[in-house]
Amino acid sequence: MSYPRQPSRYLDDDLAAFRNMVASFVDLEIRPHADEWEAAGEFPRDLYTKAAAAGLLGLRYDPKWGGGGGSFLATCVMCEELIKGDTVGTAVGLLAQSEFALSVLADEGSDRLKEEYLAPAIRGELIGAIGVSEPGAGSDVAAITTRAVRDGDDYVISGQKTFITNGTRADFIALAVRTGDAGPRGISVVIFPTDTPGFAVGRKLEKLGSRASDTAELFFDECRIPTGNLVGEEGMGMRYVLSHFGGERLVISAFAVGIMERLIDLGLEYASARQVFGKPLTDFQTWRHRFTEMATRLEATRTLTYQAADLLDARHGSGDVAVSMAKLYAAGAVQFVASEILQLHGGFGQMEESAIPRYYRDVAGFSVGAGTTEIQREIIAAALI
Ligand SMILES: Cc1cc2nc3c(=O)[nH]c(=O)nc-3n(C[C@H](O)[C@H](O)[C@H](O)COP(=O)(O)OP(=O)(O)OC[C@H]3O[C@@H](n4cnc5c(N)ncnc54)[C@H](O)[C@@H]3O)c2cc1C
Repeated sequence: MSYPRQPSRYLDDDLAAFRNMVASFVDLEIRPHADEWEAAGEFPRDLYTKAAAAGLLGLRYDPKWGGGGGSFLATCVMCEELIKGDTVGTAVGLLAQSEFALSVLADEGSDRLKEEYLAPAIRGELIGAIGVSEPGAGSDVAAITTRAVRDGDDYVISGQKTFITNGTRADFIALAVRTGDAGPRGISVVIFPTDTPGFAVGRKLEKLGSRASDTAELFFDECRIPTGNLVGEEGMGMRYVLSHFGGERLVISAFAVGIMERLIDLGLEYASARQVFGKPLTDFQTWRHRFTEMATRLEATRTLTYQAADLLDARHGSGDVAVSMAKLYAAGAVQFVASEILQLHGGFGQMEESAIPRYYRDVAGFSVGAGTTEIQREIIAAALI
């Protein structure tokens, strides 16, 4: 018994075929290795080249740089399937590169930067990270203090970042730095090569969930990079970072849709096989009703997510209320479903040999990453009140 996905006017035959291709990639290249990679706390580097060969790393970007010229809607479908490999961290590591690190570069970077970083990253030859958060600045991006001072044709960068996904092995970082005065207008984005002298990776951080993605502290001690590594215009970094949060929030929302489908599938399989008091769990009205609630929240999330993707495709941008609504709702819905499916599995749900507790841990971060639930509420409230 598996979950019958509800029809959506946003999905067509091309997207269905694309979905099948991504699902086959996950069946072959990800799920068989999920336990091993989660235990190791990282997935192999060559997964980037395999994903690139399948067209999954540059889906939305200009074919001139090797991208697929695809849409946000196709990105949603890809994320829904990639996340079903029972290793959320692996999907997070791939998307931290293809969406989080590359989108600012793809939209605002010079041709030289695209040639040197975007194209090889789309081919899976380089790994990218996005470096915004600092020990003293997370939700409040305008509070960052990592400083880039112009010296001739160089920027000299000093400071610290934390919680950076792909941080231990990134070849480059799309780095938010302070080039001007305090506040939002003093921020710029540069492409920072991690072989620059003075750069050091600190602790690899142990996390509650998403364990197959590496998350690190990064230190910058008078690191010199060319001013030509500036992305777009100096002082526009805050606008670039905020406008590209839309893509990140959409990715998290689509991940939530995929996880809910996977968990409801696993739940239906278990509930139809598990006998209690002489009949399967699916015969108990309490579980029948709980499945209807889960399915309804799943489809509500899908609808909000596809609608937000459609809006982003129509007028590229971010800060969109629709994206914040999708992300706000998605985080709550997937945490609800993960908790219900955990309960459904009784004692088996507590055992590490099953993927269920792993998903339960992984989704706790969905109300934090890419802008917390409270920040989504602030964005929506600002448009309402
Ligand atoms: C696994 C993981 C991976 C990450 N990867 C990256 C990455 O690759 N790159 C990167 O730059 N960052 C990354 N982050 C950081 C992430 O973006 C931040 O954790 C997030 O933005 C929240 O910032 P913070 O942790 O500093 O919390 P804070 O901003 O200090 O927030 C603490 C609490 O206060 C609440 N709060 C904040 N502002 C308000 C407000 N105005 N009104 C009401 N409540 C508020 C928050 O919602 C939260 O509940 C990652 C985080 C995690 C956990």
